[in-house]
Amino acid sequence: MSFVKKSVSTEPIVDTVFAIVRKAKEDVAKNGADVVTDATIGSLYDEQGQLVALDTCFSSLKALDNRVLAKYASAFTGNPDFCKDVYDWVLNGNSTLPHEVIATPGGTGAVDMTISECLDAGQTVILPEIAWGSYKLMAGMNSLNVENYALFDGDAFNIKDLERACKAVMAKQDKLVIVINDPCQNPTGYSMTIDEWKQVVALLNACAKTHEVVLLNDIAYIDFAYGQEKSKEYFKVFDDIDENVAVVVSFSLSKSMTAYGMRCGAAIVMTKNEDNLRDMKNVFEKDARATWSNINNGAMAMFVDVLENHKEEYNAERRKYVALLKERSDIFIQEAAEVGLKHYPYREGFFVTLSMDNDVRDAFHEALMKNHIYTVKVNQGIRVAVCSLSVAKTKGLAKKMKDILDQVA
Ligand code: PLP
Repeated sequence: MSFVKKSVSTEPIVDTVFAIVRKAKEDVAKNGADVVTDATIGSLYDEQGQLVALDTCFSSLKALDNRVLAKYASAFTGNPDFCKDVYDWVLNGNSTLPHEVIATPGGTGAVDMTISECLDAGQTVILPEIAWGSYKLMAGMNSLNVENYALFDGDAFNIKDLERACKAVMAKQDKLVIVINDPCQNPTGYSMTIDEWKQVVALLNACAKTHEVVLLNDIAYIDFAYGQEKSKEYFKVFDDIDENVAVVVSFSLSKSMTAYGMRCGAAIVMTKNEDNLRDMKNVFEKDARATWSNINNGAMAMFVDVLENHKEEYNAERRKYVALLKERSDIFIQEAAEVGLKHYPYREGFFVTLSMDNDVRDAFHEALMKNHIYTVKVNQGIRVAVCSLSVAKTKGLAKKMKDILDQVA
């Protein structure tokens, strides 16, 4: 007997991060911060070990009238000025597709809304094999099955395996929902090339001859892509989608404005089929109304104020940290190459992931902790959060890790 619905697992969340964060903290308390390397935390930290909270964003928030913070949003889909500014900021003139924007509680809200409203219970969602853990959890909570695609073919995106996954799912159901977390993929730090995106769109269009296709493009880390505006040019490729394809771009203020706790983001729905676009908007609006009702008004007002009145300042402040992130990741990647520490192809972003099978990973992860190095286990790898490691802690880390790995592997 259970009070919760039968279709949902009652197993506790497998907590791969917080338990290790706690261990790292205990180690710091016991042995001092100098001895410990904590590469667990997935938020941006400065060189002094403090969480980065962008001044431009939080000064704007604090200058808002109390009533702006107190108010409900003006629509379940989000404030119109927020929706417009999100679209302009994210697409940056790189799309001509008909679209709708629905404000969501972070990227989480946008991804879950898409998965839950586009697929019926018992259907299958297509997810990357190495990915942010919440995707799988969302699938489970919505009674969906998962088909994974392998991410890499050598150093390139594995379009062949995505095609295999699509074919396997098309044999079972009339629709595809595919998640691609790019650019700055979590946890590998891979970013697809425009050419790879063209291959994806060609695949989606081929599938769309017989099936409806929804691509969920999770761009949670896009504003920390090293190419900045250039990293948004791939959106142009979506202009070639077939009528039977919809793209939902999932955007979040969590990283873009270092506003993780403010729970604000958006789903940008794009498709050439205007009837389907209207239907998706209507359903997403009802989903919003039925679950979170409306989005944090202060967070939306902050986003609008920053982009309309303090854009240059915001870009300058954020880019300082983009450069810092690049400095850290350059050090780690270069030193990893020097000592032969293998990792998945990394281009940019918050994380680098060492590649290894799960047996080696488990022993390695334990051995690292014995040596005061704390990381996060992911499928087929060990995630190193360069986003929260100072330059000083990053230097020499690859060699230390390689030496420990050589002892366990
Ligand atoms: N997508 C990915 C890949 C993430 O790593 C995260 C956060 O860690 C999110 C989406 C969503 O975060 P939030 O709901 O805070 O926007």
